[in-house]
Amino acid sequence: MRLLIAEDDEPLAARLRERLAREGYAVDVAHDGIDAGHLGATEPYDAIVLDLGLPGRTGLDLLADWRAAGNRVPVLILTARDGWSDRVDGLRAGADDYLGKPFHTEELVARIHALLRRAAPAADVALRAGPWRLDETRQCLVHDDGREQPLTATEFRLLRYFMRHPGQVLSKTRLTEHVYEYDAERDSNVIEVYVRRLRTLLGAGCIETRRGQGYAFHGDG
Ligand code: CA
Repeated sequence: MRLLIAEDDEPLAARLRERLAREGYAVDVAHDGIDAGHLGATEPYDAIVLDLGLPGRTGLDLLADWRAAGNRVPVLILTARDGWSDRVDGLRAGADDYLGKPFHTEELVARIHALLRRAAPAADVALRAGPWRLDETRQCLVHDDGREQPLTATEFRLLRYFMRHPGQVLSKTRLTEHVYEYDAERDSNVIEVYVRRLRTLLGAGCIETRRGQGYAFHGDG
């Protein structure tokens, strides 16, 4: 899952990026409205945290543009604590949630989890592959018999993305875009290596190869 943080308060943006990366998200940061508008329009984010007071272009303008272009990415806006009219404008412009500054980072993390769950209801079913369950908090696999299998950060990101899109054909390009950050060196062939690794852990049947199209995940493997 890949997130964009559009926030011109650089220390705050850095703190959020670090916290969300620890949650296993790929995180891009934009410090002004121009960059944020470009990234939001061209990169396939799973959610965007949008400060309304951005230099260059305001958050409200960006949100209105994305929605006018049919971009339904879940957006959480950040507003001044007493900025009730900002919140109303933001929700009218198509924001999915808001948080007033200052806020606790844990609340932002919880709200992002909730936004992503609502955006992909299939994820509510269960993040499972056969006898294995994905523990999102601890970023490991837990077997029904109690055994645990640690995962690397990339294994965790990739497996979570698969589990949240069960049965869908996912191209290597799409997987790469949702698992890596903008400035990461992206090599879609690396996805093959990770898929092989996940098959070793979960059983070959859990990830089906669709020749020329990509992969499809089957939780009942
Ligand atoms: Ca600001």
